[in-house]
Amino acid sequence: MAATQFDLVADFLGLTEELRQRTKWPKRLITVTVPIRLDDGSTKVFFGHRVQHHLTRGPVKGGLRYHPNVDLGEVAALAMWMNWKCALMDLPFGGGKGGITCDPRTMSMGELERLTRRYTMEMIPFIGEDIDIMAPDMGTNEQTMAWMTDTYSTHAGRLIPGIVTGKPLALQGSAGRTQATGHGVAFLACRALNKLGIKLTDATAIVQGFGNVGSHTVYGLANSGVKVTGVSDVSGAIWNPRGIDTRELRDHVAARGSIAGFTEADPIDPAELLTQPCDILAPAATDMVIHKDNAGQLQCKILAEGANGPTTPEADEIINARGDIFVIPDILCNAGGVTVSYFEWVQNLQRFQWTEREVLTKLETMLENAFSRVLAFAERNKLSHRMAAQSLAVKTVAEVKAQRGLFP
Ligand code: NAP
Repeated sequence: MAATQFDLVADFLGLTEELRQRTKWPKRLITVTVPIRLDDGSTKVFFGHRVQHHLTRGPVKGGLRYHPNVDLGEVAALAMWMNWKCALMDLPFGGGKGGITCDPRTMSMGELERLTRRYTMEMIPFIGEDIDIMAPDMGTNEQTMAWMTDTYSTHAGRLIPGIVTGKPLALQGSAGRTQATGHGVAFLACRALNKLGIKLTDATAIVQGFGNVGSHTVYGLANSGVKVTGVSDVSGAIWNPRGIDTRELRDHVAARGSIAGFTEADPIDPAELLTQPCDILAPAATDMVIHKDNAGQLQCKILAEGANGPTTPEADEIINARGDIFVIPDILCNAGGVTVSYFEWVQNLQRFQWTEREVLTKLETMLENAFSRVLAFAERNKLSHRMAAQSLAVKTVAEVKAQRGLFP
């Protein structure tokens, strides 16, 4: 998907063959074995990856994912998207992504800690606060980042907080980082409602996923007055056309670990939830959930892509042909996370802490700028929002490559 999208963009931009090749392929793909001792005394070898797509515009930045489906190809695609996301947001980073093929839900805290520390050790030759800065993604969180900081800093003999972002606040994390991605998704979805002339308090939303991104998208939308009518996670989906009480849902998930058993809404088939009528549909869980078989049945006015790669190229074609859905493409929609990660890194380098209000205000300003640039470019060139966002990003990277020239 990522490579197909790149080829379309490169055709549109008319990139020379040299720039096309240099911009497309990742700089480094690193795969390591990560052997750890399990709680039962046996040893298991996991596979870990890190792809650094480009170092042209600065250090590499991107998350670390723990999931059974992780493989090198997926990590490479996610690294490429991170690259475009950083360029679109004008952050001084190239894109990277990492992952370990594992099922964190079946592992103990001790096993996860040993896995994280060993993976970090294996990565030490390839990372650094000026080289590659990781962050949480699916299956990882601020505890994972704290272990990585400790492992890297212990090896260096001094605290190096800028080695990862998404750290706990007490370990020089940034105020606002936890909610940043979901806050950004909700902010941009509300901007799209404004563009379509829909009052926030008249609008409804369905959110797939209730992890970091999904839950904060739900809270952000609810705080803006939007009625959240449907939510799903791995355990299933719930639906209430009168609106879900998001505070009660938060308390329920905090107590039970999932949305299963929430009685203030009706259970619904998770696939059917996506095609229910709503103003905003925010897939905020995993990739390729909007595909050729359901794209024609969507009944949303805005598709706010909280997850990375939730829409397949075939679905994109169907949505473009329909022309009645305002798409906020992933590299823009979920860019709040990497933007506040950038703020965290800057604060770490300066040994300085900003307030939550400062962080979220700066974030909204940067998202607003990128949103306006994408919409203007799309209108000027008669492009879909996705093509416009990716074209702006690829153009930025290709221009810097051309300016720096080819060594030797
Ligand atoms: P997360 O905290 O692990 O949450 C993932 C959520 O998705 C969980 O609620 C999970 O349910 C649910 N889920 C997984 N598969 C599902 C399915 N098939 N149907 C419905 N729900 C499903 O991960 P996250 O950080 O929110 O990341 C979600 C997406 O956003 C990923 O694509 C990630 O790459 C992207 N993203 C994340 C960030 C960030 O800052 N975290 C930034 C940019 C993009 P369970 O809890 O029941 O497992």
